[in-house]
Amino acid sequence: RAQTPFKNEPLTDFSKEENRRAQEAALAQVKSELGQKYPLIIGNKKITEGETFASINPANPDQVLGYFIKGTAEQAKEAVGVAAEAFKTWKKVPATERAAYLFKAADIIRERKFYFNAWMIYEVSKTWVEADADTAEAIDFLEYYARQMLKLAAPQDLPTTPGEDNELVYIPLGVGAVIPPWNFPCAIALGMTSAAIVAGNTVVLKPASTAPAIAYQFVRVFEEIGLPAGVINYLTGSGAAIGDTLVDDPRTRFVSFTGSREVGERIYERAAKVAQGQIWLKRSVLEMGGKDAVVVDETADLDAAADGIVSSAFGFQGQKCSAGSRAIVVEQVYDQVLEKVLERAKKLTVGDVTQDPTVNLGAVIDEKAKKKILEYIEIGKKEGRLVLGGGEKGPGYFIEPTIIADVDRNARIAQEEIFGPVLAFIKAKDFADAIDIANSTEYGLTGSLYTQDQERIEQAKEEFHVGNLYFNRKCTGALVGVHPFGGFNMSGTDSKAGGPDYLLLFTQAKAISTKK
Ligand code: NAP
Repeated sequence: RAQTPFKNEPLTDFSKEENRRAQEAALAQVKSELGQKYPLIIGNKKITEGETFASINPANPDQVLGYFIKGTAEQAKEAVGVAAEAFKTWKKVPATERAAYLFKAADIIRERKFYFNAWMIYEVSKTWVEADADTAEAIDFLEYYARQMLKLAAPQDLPTTPGEDNELVYIPLGVGAVIPPWNFPCAIALGMTSAAIVAGNTVVLKPASTAPAIAYQFVRVFEEIGLPAGVINYLTGSGAAIGDTLVDDPRTRFVSFTGSREVGERIYERAAKVAQGQIWLKRSVLEMGGKDAVVVDETADLDAAADGIVSSAFGFQGQKCSAGSRAIVVEQVYDQVLEKVLERAKKLTVGDVTQDPTVNLGAVIDEKAKKKILEYIEIGKKEGRLVLGGGEKGPGYFIEPTIIADVDRNARIAQEEIFGPVLAFIKAKDFADAIDIANSTEYGLTGSLYTQDQERIEQAKEEFHVGNLYFNRKCTGALVGVHPFGGFNMSGTDSKAGGPDYLLLFTQAKAISTKK
């Protein structure tokens, strides 16, 4: 297996009857499992006592997916302690064995693909296609990091010096607090967890409180394949209540976080403080928000650009860190592009993905998000011209795809991450001005340029300041191995998840020289 080259997991073709049936069957299966109570998993203990919170279907908030334990600060400390104990033996497990766990987990998740998709369709209101891409990406991370670990564990060539043998080995760090977001509840959560453990670390995984069920599903897979207890500890509960405890604990060696800028900054600051008894500087891997742009110049294929703008802005209800929430178009073709985008966006439908697989957009994640997005739409109406959407529907958290035109580059809706289906259209004087506007936020995650001018492509390679830059295609949909992912400036530490350097973040290198 390790010898075969990495290949991205193919996406499911839902136009095929057999796949549609399989997805429907998996949705029925998950429906029959709704409402159960899930434990905390700390070492070999399953803890079911304590207060609970519900994970719900955002499209139908009365539908409870499951009840999860509100982990306490004491349980967070206990989990770090158990992970620290497990690290003593896990770090000695050879890399080949550690990688084998990831390969086995990939096989099982591949077999259960429709089931995993179904959990996400229910828990975060992903469309079938978006859920399927999330599961495929999760499988990719397992397959990719397993292979990367084997490469990293192979002897590293160092120049020889007379009379001395030299080697460089990568050893694990220790206990990690893994804190993922809800928006790629399988791919990102599993990617962050699997990278840390395959490198020889042990973790406390605190899933996002709106998506604990899907995380439970993959933790269960590792349990099934016999991953030693304590390597992954599953601790649900509010980040506000237990996040600080995990980050501050002197036994925590690193924090791997993906989420909002606000929480990322807080972690950065707290992790930098050396606690009493702590004998290392904690490492913080922090991937945060974006205010990504699709730029279109007058030479571009305008139909392709309109397609790219629409899927970048509205895929998964605009709730991707890579979402193209700004369309920056040069004035010569601004009206034309806006018209083409409107034509396409008007056709998008919104609804409950668990009931209707044909809808293009599901619900946004929760009531708080819905309120925040609607507030931004009100701000946007004052900052620009509402040309599409703006409406909402209940009781599910539905918001129409919304476009606000003629937005100033410095307007709040052009600067702040909304994380919903709201697109700001911004007019640029010319290409140079468009790139200036694109670079004018505090973020720098993804960006895309539609142009047929080769010189401008070269110029954008230098000047468009984003971690993931795309030409003549949408700015979402990074593939593991193909588009290592992570952003500049306030988008985070540019960790390049799914890239060849990612595992290094969870290791430390030891140079060893032996006199002959
Ligand atoms: P979030 O609110 O920052 O939450 C992320 C995680 O942090 C959750 O598990 C959350 O737990 C936890 N948390 C909350 N307060 C904490 C604290 N004080 N200490 C430690 N952990 C704490 O972000 P989100 O709403 O889940 O995700 C959306 C954000 O993620 C967007 O900004 C998006 O751009 C970003 N994102 C970035 C990338 C990337 O690769 N750059 C990828 C995906 C998403 P609770 O759920 O319990 O609050």
